[in-house]
Amino acid sequence: MSDDCLFCKIIAGEIPSNKVYSDDDLYAFEDINPAAPQHILIIPKKHLTNINSANEKDEALLGKLLLRANEIAKELGLAEDGFRYVINTGRDGGQTVFHLHLHILGGRALSWPPG
Ligand code: AMP
Ligand code: ZN
Repeated sequence: MSDDCLFCKIIAGEIPSNKVYSDDDLYAFEDINPAAPQHILIIPKKHLTNINSANEKDEALLGKLLLRANEIAKELGLAEDGFRYVINTGRDGGQTVFHLHLHILGGRALSWPPG
């Protein structure tokens, strides 16, 4: 837990969120400002600033995060028509919350390339 991290506070229940999934390692919740009809954030409970902060010790955790995201996408009914995963990283990547998070976006046709 990082004291001044918004997502650590969400995991701790200090800031409310619309939970979609939780286990010992992961937490998933609805994005407060959805960019698509379905917009979920899935995060490790362990504080990692971003994907650059991960190392070999996090291999299983990151694998679990992706596979669980697949399950959530399936549960949301996105598997057939498709969806997008996004991990914004650092300033040029557009990261605004510095706790690693995977965006799951779906429910409409998404354009490419991103801005
Ligand atoms: P990023 O720009 O990749 O760092 O994404 C951060 C995301 O967190 C944005 O999509 C925000 O809408 C979302 N967000 C910020 N505060 C909250 C909150 N309190 N609850 C849920 N989502 C949030
Ligand atoms: Zn954090």
